[in-house]
Amino acid sequence: MTDFEQKLEKYAELAVKIGVNVQKGQTLVVNAPVVAVDFVRKVTRIAYEAGAKNVYHRWTDNLLTLTKFQLAPDEALQEFPKWEADGLEQLAKEGAAFLDITTPQLDLLKDIDPERIALSNKTVSQALHTYRNYRMADKVSWSILAYPTEEWAKKVFPETEGQEALEKLWEQVFKLTRIDREDPVAAWKEHQRNLSEKVRYLNEKKYKKLHYRAPGTDLTIEFPDGYIWAGGASKNEAGADFFANIPTEEVFTLPLKTGVNGTVKSTKPLNYGGKLIEGLSFVFKDGKIVDFSAEQGYDTVKKLLDTDEGSRYLGEVALVPYNSPISESGLIFFNTLFDENASCHLAIGAAYPTCLEGGEKLTREELEARGVNSSLTHVDFMIGSPELEIDGETRSGEREPVFRNGVWAF
Ligand code: ZN
Ligand code: ZN
Repeated sequence: MTDFEQKLEKYAELAVKIGVNVQKGQTLVVNAPVVAVDFVRKVTRIAYEAGAKNVYHRWTDNLLTLTKFQLAPDEALQEFPKWEADGLEQLAKEGAAFLDITTPQLDLLKDIDPERIALSNKTVSQALHTYRNYRMADKVSWSILAYPTEEWAKKVFPETEGQEALEKLWEQVFKLTRIDREDPVAAWKEHQRNLSEKVRYLNEKKYKKLHYRAPGTDLTIEFPDGYIWAGGASKNEAGADFFANIPTEEVFTLPLKTGVNGTVKSTKPLNYGGKLIEGLSFVFKDGKIVDFSAEQGYDTVKKLLDTDEGSRYLGEVALVPYNSPISESGLIFFNTLFDENASCHLAIGAAYPTCLEGGEKLTREELEARGVNSSLTHVDFMIGSPELEIDGETRSGEREPVFRNGVWAF
């Protein structure tokens, strides 16, 4: 086996054993692009060796997606096969694990009308609402990891030629997912312990509010009663650990829907459904986005905010030190999986119900009543920088440093 093959094998092992953490007798669903077939074969073999009962594959292809957006009539974008949605729901209900392998392609839909993209996103979100809830509430194990392609590599390394750029990107992906370590699985367990310490500290403090200050940012975020910080591994309904994102460096929770006030400016570009959004700034009043601007992608943001009522409120508050390995790489990956882990971020739209005590058992209405946002959408945007300062406000109104110069202050 070449060095690359060995690393790819370890990456597949990480996906199966740490990512979804497949259990004996469990079904695994792999959502994957056709270009990743060699990797998917490894994943599938390792999953069966680990005791998986059945491994199902749902294949995708970026160019097929593009062709559909170019040529299919609008009605097609309003339709999602019921059998497919029902099938996913059934598998989730039966406790299957879900592994998503993504191949980010930044400019894929750049010439497509945002209206058509929004329509399609909405259709898919509605059809897969129940299935996605199983994932959002961590009832089932799920994990997302990236598979580099030349198109993506050329974005990250614009100065480098095709194949060489791809090799450089793989090297980064292997490094940032700890595949270059002697024992990646053990390295991930140690990483988990470090994240747990931050989570424990924040959950003991239970700050009433966080205050953010940075160039273009002056924001206060309040939290609802019973909110919980989480990070690293999650637990599914059956009690098995899994990592929803590989890599992951974040510690996160949910905000009080109506408790966000002030202005916040994004610090990294955001790729949303194939469109690039840059220089994003939001103004919040009592949780609602009442004004916004964007240097690039204004129309895309507008469409996103018009998805539903909840897409004008925040659903996630995440802390990532500016000296995280991804940030230290100095690269912009134009992919949320990597970029959000380089940076403190917020998300517009749905909150993770698991970030509220007993939240996973509550209905949407009950969650709303407790100040938790819900929406068909969930889009992260990055706000971290070396200038970012965050204070925690205690129940008695004192302020303590949480972040200084973009890194943990404790
Ligand atoms: Zn996040
Ligand atoms: Zn998020």
